[in-house]
Amino acid sequence: MSTLSFSNAALDVLAIAAHRDDVEQTCGGTLLKMAQRGRRTGILDLTQGEMGTRGTAEDRAREAEEAARILRVSWRQALDIPDGRVENTFENRLKVARVIREQRPRVVILPYWKGRHPDHYTASMLGYEACFLAGLAKLDFRLARATSAANSAEESVSLRAGRHQDSRQDAGATKLPPHRPFKIIYATLYYDVRPTFVVDITELFETRFQALMAYKSQFSDQEAGKDLFPAQAEIRARIEAMARFYGLLGGVTYAEPFLQKEVGLVEDLTLIPVKSI
Ligand SMILES: [Zn+2]
Repeated sequence: MSTLSFSNAALDVLAIAAHRDDVEQTCGGTLLKMAQRGRRTGILDLTQGEMGTRGTAEDRAREAEEAARILRVSWRQALDIPDGRVENTFENRLKVARVIREQRPRVVILPYWKGRHPDHYTASMLGYEACFLAGLAKLDFRLARATSAANSAEESVSLRAGRHQDSRQDAGATKLPPHRPFKIIYATLYYDVRPTFVVDITELFETRFQALMAYKSQFSDQEAGKDLFPAQAEIRARIEAMARFYGLLGGVTYAEPFLQKEVGLVEDLTLIPVKSI
């Protein structure tokens, strides 16, 4: 488990995603912007990337730490949910709920709830339900063991060693006070849906791109044995086109798209941003 942590103060913003490098692609600029404004930011990756075609989970752990450093993230951790098999089970919801209680984020960024990759849209629902669970005063983290007991005998044997360790963690988590984030927003970059707002990342685009390029095992091997630049130039063009598109919607150069389920609340009509005509 990879952990990058400088203090145990509550997080202002926690981004949750299925895979290492998802956050860098969908909302890394926004996290960096928050950090530059003095906010404490964090990233929870649900999986460790062991199914990736290129590189190992260990490579990706090192790269994720480097990307977090570039994005000035205060806390990052990867759970042990199997890559390619993110399922919205009670046990997985408890794993995420435990992190919500430990890190006490005010804002949680989830992936949008539709998409091509099942891990992405499942992570969205799993994350939402975990935020709900984390706020239940009577939530008993030891229930995870009861759920596990319903698994097949074969699976129980293979999990037994890990479960002893889990049950100690569960006991600790139960003592953590309930916490529910104030705000949940959805990063929509992976899906063609109109965002409800965008965040201006014009000044941060280059640094966000460097954070993504920290995943050398993913992006440097594109054309093994050949010059790296054509592959990187293609990735950059694609990422820049997306950021420019969402920037246009907000009247800026580069932006990242988000969706909130709630309506916007306005105090002063003269301060609403984004020009109409
Ligand atoms: Zn992904």
